[in-house]
Amino acid sequence: MALDFDSAALYNEKLGPEHHSWREHLRKFLAVEVEPFMDDWDESGKIPDEMWKKAADFGLLQLGYPEEFGGISEGIDQHYLNILSEELGRIGSAGGIASTLLVHGIGLPPVVNFSPQAIKEQVVPAVLAGEKRISLGITEPSGGSDVANLTTTARREGDFYIVNGSKTFISGGMGADWISTAVRTGGEGGGGISMLLIPTHLEGVSRTPLDKKQGWWCSDTATIYFDDVKVPVDHLIGEEGHGFLVILNNFNNERLAMIVNMEACARCCLAEAVSWAEQRMTFGKPLSKHQVIRHKITQMKQRINATQAYTQHVTQAVIEGRSNFGDLALLKVQASETMEFCAREASQILGGACYLRGNKVERIYREVRVNAIGGGSEEIMRDLAAGQYGL
Ligand SMILES: Cc1cc2nc3c(=O)[nH]c(=O)nc-3n(C[C@H](O)[C@H](O)[C@H](O)COP(=O)(O)OP(=O)(O)OC[C@H]3O[C@@H](n4cnc5c(N)ncnc54)[C@H](O)[C@@H]3O)c2cc1C
Repeated sequence: MALDFDSAALYNEKLGPEHHSWREHLRKFLAVEVEPFMDDWDESGKIPDEMWKKAADFGLLQLGYPEEFGGISEGIDQHYLNILSEELGRIGSAGGIASTLLVHGIGLPPVVNFSPQAIKEQVVPAVLAGEKRISLGITEPSGGSDVANLTTTARREGDFYIVNGSKTFISGGMGADWISTAVRTGGEGGGGISMLLIPTHLEGVSRTPLDKKQGWWCSDTATIYFDDVKVPVDHLIGEEGHGFLVILNNFNNERLAMIVNMEACARCCLAEAVSWAEQRMTFGKPLSKHQVIRHKITQMKQRINATQAYTQHVTQAVIEGRSNFGDLALLKVQASETMEFCAREASQILGGACYLRGNKVERIYREVRVNAIGGGSEEIMRDLAAGQYGL
């Protein structure tokens, strides 16, 4: 049995024919519209604007959002979203594309779930149609892990909040029309935090690109500055002082998408390594016949199996509404460690060939680190799990 991407997967008995046909449909779209251009997008540091319209026409941007705002939610369960993250991993993207073209996946849910109806109507359909963009602004130059101590302030003055401060590492931040932004409206700690939807065209908003990154080159990451920005009070997302709740609510979706993508990237590395090892001859036989290489391959598969089984378990818990932060947090660590291990071992098997740009393993390797840090770092995930387990 060849260990290609699909055959390296554990059988998932929860997937029905509708999921398989969605995968096939999506795979064709990615093969035509995305995969051939990924290297160019990385090299130019940009995904072309017309891709948002193409993604909307295909139905990619709308997946899982309410029909009343132009979304596609009927019959859509978590497996559909997982398949999207998996297929992006299969073509060798460990978050670069998701953090650009699909970054509304973290910016928009706070609005959908907690904004006033009039704001939802103004923002959600435009984003889902690919006409406007939205990002999420939590991290600040002073730090991203300690969210409860963020320092960007929003002072109420009549019908406006006056916002001062800055956010950094904001994915999609250069092109965003709105930023769902964590601000301090009250006193110290988590209870003083609110979420505010900040339109980037407002006076006092400025931004600079963070374009010299280790990975995610196609993603327009930004630092965003707020200098006495007047934001209408109806742009408050949820209640004042409840921002921490909105943020926590958001993190789980982001983490599960990252987890599934990381597991798929690990599988992509395995498939690439096996394919190379079967054809590359050294010392008179294929690499795959050397014991050291065979062990590398089976160690990769062993870790992927464990991560996949754990992911299937947590996905089912999410679907049934019985997931917990701790298990999800530890799964994120499991997934980033598995991806990092597989990227390293695959690159070792590919040898010098992997050091050249333009192959999947090389891209995944350079996108590994951000996955171990963004959306909650490994250290913070372990700590969060410890707290959940009563420690
Ligand atoms: C490419 C990229 C894109 C990103 N996109 C976004 C985005 O769209 N929106 C957004 O808001 N943020 C985004 N981030 C920010 C990301 O969420 C943060 O980098 C992350 O939360 C960690 O924050 P920090 O980098 O400030 O590290 P810090 O919080 O300063 O921590 C530094 C290191 O110390 C460790 N550490 C911190 N506290 C503890 C502790 N108590 N115990 C043990 N170890 C600890 C951390 O794990 C980390 O390894 C992005 C980051 C990158 C790199």
